[in-house]
Amino acid sequence: MTNTPRSCSQCLGKLKAKMIFEKFSHDVNYGHAKCGKCGITFDSNVNEMAETVVESAEDLKNLDETEYRELFVETSQIADDDGDIYTDFKWDDNDGVKAGVAEHVIRAIDARHKDGIKRFADVGCGSGFMSCEIAKKYPGATVHAIDPSPLVQRLAGVQGVEPHQGTLQTAGLEADSVEALSIIGNWMLHMDPMDTLKEAHRVLQPGGTLILDFKNVKSATRVLAGWALRMGLDRFGGRGLLHRNFVNMRYGFTKKYVLRSLDEQGFKAIEVESKPPRLLEFSNKSHYQKGVKGLIWRSLDGFDAIRKEQAWIQIVAEKKA
Ligand SMILES: [Zn+2]
Repeated sequence: MTNTPRSCSQCLGKLKAKMIFEKFSHDVNYGHAKCGKCGITFDSNVNEMAETVVESAEDLKNLDETEYRELFVETSQIADDDGDIYTDFKWDDNDGVKAGVAEHVIRAIDARHKDGIKRFADVGCGSGFMSCEIAKKYPGATVHAIDPSPLVQRLAGVQGVEPHQGTLQTAGLEADSVEALSIIGNWMLHMDPMDTLKEAHRVLQPGGTLILDFKNVKSATRVLAGWALRMGLDRFGGRGLLHRNFVNMRYGFTKKYVLRSLDEQGFKAIEVESKPPRLLEFSNKSHYQKGVKGLIWRSLDGFDAIRKEQAWIQIVAEKKA
């Protein structure tokens, strides 16, 4: 088994990190830990991962699914053959979900770029569903759709979209070349999230817009799930759900930590928004929203909304000149 990092790799705190649980149930040899100093959580193999360097997109071409998951935590197949996304949530209206995810980002672009944009980067675009929405919204713009998944190859030929299989670091964008850049739904999975911020800062124009979201470890559901795992309650069931929805992230961040990191990397935060878990969002109903289960989710989310500590935090930031 992988050793718990002696201290948090991010804040280099002196305190020993505490394990939330020793080992994920599936065929990996790491668990999830929490830093007593800065309050973030992380997979216990982050030190090993930080040493892994993906130098070029070529390195990702021939990975099998196990190797892919080791590097990027999530599956390489977030969309099915029809292009439907996150199908395990069993949405009634998949197109509504895609438009809903894109809506948060388009709203942020519109607010800051009144004359539209010419060049955009969608980092961790998955199947590229949001890249396509943004290309439609801003005709004439070039949208760089970047993801390590082979799914991005499906985007070849889409009007306004330039697919890059790989990471932001391997995509080869020029310095000061994009007006806006989004990292939606994947930043906490990156091998080195701070290195991603550095690269985002390099490719954005001065005054350019970063739209970033992350899983918030302070949301009530994630706190409760963490305690359930520490007490071993997952023995009695729900393990898959606890892992999938609450700790399936290389890093679990807090608002305070991310705001400080953005400042250190040369960004000025403009807007901080608390967002519900995706399974509760959007106009259509997922099967998680039905019955008693739905009532519990919504109550916890309502409590989190008052505290402004919902499952996801989205931050809009500006590259300082
Ligand atoms: Zn720490």
